[in-house]
Amino acid sequence: MGVNKDLLDRRAAVTPRGVPRVTPATASHARGATLVDLEGNEYIDLAGGIGVMNAGHGQERVVRAISEQAERLVHTCFHVATYEPYVRLCETLADLFPHGERTKVLLVNSGAEAVENAVKIARQATGRSGVICFTGAFHGRTLLGMSLTSKVGYKTGCGPFAPEVYRLPFPNFYGDGDGLTLDGFVDRELNRLRKALVNTVAAEHVAAIIIEPVQGEGGFVVAPPEYLTGLRKICDKHGIVLIFDEVQTGFCRTGKWAAYEHFDVRPDVSTWAKSMGGGLPIAAVIGKAEIMDGARPGTIGGTYGGNPVACAAALATIEVMKDLNLNARATEIGRRCMERFQQIKARCPLVGDVRGLGAMVALEFVHDGDPQRPAPKVVKEILARCIDRGVLALSAGVHGNVIRILSPLVITDEQLERGLDTLEEEILRCTSVPAAASPPKPATAGHRSS
Ligand code: PLP
Repeated sequence: MGVNKDLLDRRAAVTPRGVPRVTPATASHARGATLVDLEGNEYIDLAGGIGVMNAGHGQERVVRAISEQAERLVHTCFHVATYEPYVRLCETLADLFPHGERTKVLLVNSGAEAVENAVKIARQATGRSGVICFTGAFHGRTLLGMSLTSKVGYKTGCGPFAPEVYRLPFPNFYGDGDGLTLDGFVDRELNRLRKALVNTVAAEHVAAIIIEPVQGEGGFVVAPPEYLTGLRKICDKHGIVLIFDEVQTGFCRTGKWAAYEHFDVRPDVSTWAKSMGGGLPIAAVIGKAEIMDGARPGTIGGTYGGNPVACAAALATIEVMKDLNLNARATEIGRRCMERFQQIKARCPLVGDVRGLGAMVALEFVHDGDPQRPAPKVVKEILARCIDRGVLALSAGVHGNVIRILSPLVITDEQLERGLDTLEEEILRCTSVPAAASPPKPATAGHRSS
């Protein structure tokens, strides 16, 4: 019996099926953008542990920071004894992401927890309970996270969900543009929101509006800048806290520290996780001091939040990102992916849209060029074949009909090109576009096709 199969069988026997297994890959060790499985097969990693490994696997400085901090102090609970790495990380994040005149930061363990706390803080700061969120959104798997999350596949049978959650269509111009101009579309969607504050939930009842500036799990849909500007104005007018969920978009993924830096809009509160910790579980809520201090003592925090080892990892990760200028690298990776994806789109009628921001790039597959007719089956097939050839990539989108790139940003040009070559060949093959003559090669030298 193969070692990989043995581990997958043991997994199936002892772990609940509810925990997704989106690829058959196993993992033994990893470096940079290369993942090695238990049988020694190598993968070019275009998934990055779902957007966590922007700074790369096995990043030496991060590993050293983790081990040095672990030698010194692993845990006290920040409520019990104050340690410096927590405070230093908050200072660093407040410098990187100023929210208004004074910024405060709460550290927690996961993206979902950050979202939960952002909403709790907004509710206490405003004395209101309503939260507006969007279709296609993903905000995590806790009860409130799930209530805010859109895709029903993530939440079937888990209700009753948290009350006071109201959902509007995400401004998806490709999917729902209905032949309008971008300006006309943005006007329509902002009017929809204005009306909702009259016919669905009173503005003075709404604590927060939470939105991903670029939807992650929803399929890398970029919100039109004018929509976010309009949203900012509406929130200001009604005293609503604007929360940007930057869990997937943050820390160089889009070519900037924050996706919101691409837009002329600042949130009141924002949520962060994933690549911030270089692989360790740590997340943050960042916000204007006066809003953050709206939370009463004892209502936020937790035993492990801002664990010293995770803080040390995050601080080292941020240093690495600065030193390697990963924002510039993300821009270059995004440019290369976008160029290649546009070429694929020109040849492949099933590719309906190519989009993204920085290195957050995706292709959407639809039938007959119709965004209302998603083509998820072919996406599954393409990704399965890529894995067989040593390229690990993920789908996204409410219908699972989007292929997205979340590679570590330390990926070499050569690895990226090999990964994209494989992806392109499999897209053309699975969608029956005649490809260039040569037979498919494994993308990595050490990969054995299974
Ligand atoms: N928010 C966004 C935008 C995400 O992409 C995710 C995870 O994919 C979450 C929240 C939840 O994060 P976590 O899985 O760390 O709870």
